[in-house]
Amino acid sequence: MNIHEYQAKEILKQYGLPVLKGKSYNKNLETLNDDMADLKGPPWVVKSQIHAGGRGAGYFKNSFNDKGGVQVVFEKNEVSSIAQSMMGNILITKQTGEIGKTVNRIFIEEGCDIDREFYLSLLVDRNNSKLMMMISAAGGMDIEEVAETNPEKIINIHFTKYTDISLDESLMTKLEINKNQFEELTSIINKIVNAFNSIDASTIEINPLVLNKHGSFVILDAKISLDDNALFRHPELLELKDLTEEDPLELQAAEHDMNYVKLDGSIGCMVNGAGLAMATMDIIKQFGEEPANFLDLGGTANKDRVIMGFKTIQSDPNVKSILINIFGGIIHCDMIANGIVEAVKELNFKLPLVVRFQGTNAKEGRDVINNSNLGLVSIDDFTEAAKKVVELAKS
Ligand code: GDP
Ligand code: MN
Repeated sequence: MNIHEYQAKEILKQYGLPVLKGKSYNKNLETLNDDMADLKGPPWVVKSQIHAGGRGAGYFKNSFNDKGGVQVVFEKNEVSSIAQSMMGNILITKQTGEIGKTVNRIFIEEGCDIDREFYLSLLVDRNNSKLMMMISAAGGMDIEEVAETNPEKIINIHFTKYTDISLDESLMTKLEINKNQFEELTSIINKIVNAFNSIDASTIEINPLVLNKHGSFVILDAKISLDDNALFRHPELLELKDLTEEDPLELQAAEHDMNYVKLDGSIGCMVNGAGLAMATMDIIKQFGEEPANFLDLGGTANKDRVIMGFKTIQSDPNVKSILINIFGGIIHCDMIANGIVEAVKELNFKLPLVVRFQGTNAKEGRDVINNSNLGLVSIDDFTEAAKKVVELAKS
């Protein structure tokens, strides 16, 4: 689960990290002018809150000035009009794609005089099951670009413990910071690691972490992703979920305990089991098409779930054909077959469908599909089924 910058900063502040004072707004900006009395400036920074990066370098669909989703403002009386223009507007960044994202929240922050911009992030390195920090003096800009063109500018450090972390003093020269700043950075890293661990984060990314004109570190941007599988331990964090940032189809599927992720292709996939779903997506790509979604029906794939799955896939206008790929284990293929037939009739489902069964009662399942007279195609072989569904999407 992703959270907004202002929420991430709220959390980091609780862990003793240096963030600037700010105020967040949800659609309604009425109190902004009064609130400005509490915020030191100039400058102030007006920041669009969306679940995507690259806001500063982005642009608005209904452009009101030639600046992006993060604007440094020097005139106090301009803060409100800029915030008004951003609110409800669509922000397009490198990460949102052309459609962009509607800005429903704004964060106004005290500005900061930047001397240098660093990059700092924490994540779990699955290759060796350790917490890893990436730090670079080339912060502020696109870190992906730095990783590509100047990978030596990014330092990776693995942690074997979560408290009393001490850093190698070579970091001073590598980052060109003095002894005081090195100590301050060590303290910041200890606090971020503590926060990461305490909230069960999966990533924390600070870009930029700046040195201000007084030579102190300040967190200017913060992105936190939380580990979904640990959210049950943090009901207070679950409340930070912003439903307006989630895909409505994904939300609907999640309500029914289905795992659905919308993708950009044309072939709908309905599968039981995450591994089989991945394999199904791979093979579709191999035959030159793109999957429209990932959908794991889960272990109890009955008629109601199949209907729910169809409805979800069907709401995506890009879908041209569907591959249903079921491995019968505890669940019997003929049961699912009956569910599919009933669902197709009930929904008057018209998209071309290819069904592939393996496992328990696969033959009985095939018979149900073939005898349904609904124009459904049943193919046992995985490769042949994938070929067929790709062919149907093209015709
Ligand atoms: P992002 O573009 O989505 O990563 O948004 P950021 O919060 O990182 O803001 C983009 C850039 O705006 C930063 O890299 C800074 O250079 C600049 N910026 C953000 N806050 C301030 C501030 O308080 N003062 C100044 N001068 N620049 C800021
Ligand atoms: Mn940033």
